[in-house]
Amino acid sequence: MSLALRTLVAAALVATAGIATLPHAATAAGVERLYILNCGEGPAGDISRWSPGVNEGQSMDFVDSCYLIKHGKDWLLWDTGVTEAVAAMPNGLAPADPRMVTWHVPRTLTAQLQEIGVAPSDITALAVSHTHPDHIGNVELFPKAMLYVQKAEYEWPGANNTPRFKPEHPATRVEGDLDIFGDGSVTILATPGHTPGHQSLMVRLPRTGVVVLTGDAVHFQSNWDNRRVPAMNFNKDETVASMQRIADILSREHGQLWINHDKAQRATLKLSPAFYE
Ligand SMILES: [Zn+2]
Repeated sequence: MSLALRTLVAAALVATAGIATLPHAATAAGVERLYILNCGEGPAGDISRWSPGVNEGQSMDFVDSCYLIKHGKDWLLWDTGVTEAVAAMPNGLAPADPRMVTWHVPRTLTAQLQEIGVAPSDITALAVSHTHPDHIGNVELFPKAMLYVQKAEYEWPGANNTPRFKPEHPATRVEGDLDIFGDGSVTILATPGHTPGHQSLMVRLPRTGVVVLTGDAVHFQSNWDNRRVPAMNFNKDETVASMQRIADILSREHGQLWINHDKAQRATLKLSPAFYE
């Protein structure tokens, strides 16, 4: 079944049965590959912004990851990173608040895709964890790709009530969890808290096993270990509940947690053009 058709079926199921998962299709190809792309990096001025009362005045380097998933004929990109226009800025993109991250883009997303032989038009689906600029910066490199985003995030008014996405961009407004390909291989997990409609992604790889891609459900390992909630989060209780939800899924699935912004962890992982199977 094509992705577009599956999306229609999923929408129909959501509409009729109130559930957002498709029956597992035993014949589906599943995920073949997962690539980790460098979609930004740079120093955060004061990481106590993310861990109130702890790490006061301490600077730390962040990374910003995008993840490219090959499923049959489809390519799904999870999070799109800092806009690749920043690659042309020698001093990077300085934040309004110096405690936040100064983003640099050492290599464009387009160039990284080209390196592995993927054209932007090959990407049939996008899913974003949430609508902060370091996650949606390159959405419009893929104007025809179906965008999977929580309805609560899509409809969250931006500054001056501006929409979060171009209205003409094809979008599936997800409510809760969604099994994107209908075979249990790639599942959106609703993990609100950082923003109203934050989501994470569970990927079932044939060799690697289950990996949960955090989005910004957590920013770095010590915050995960101590269940710390950043001051800027939309809802603290929801954030804690979402971290616990992920922890329960990881223990049930014997899965790994890949933390999007954690530089120390990412240094232990293979980056594109290497990939996970
Ligand atoms: Zn982020």
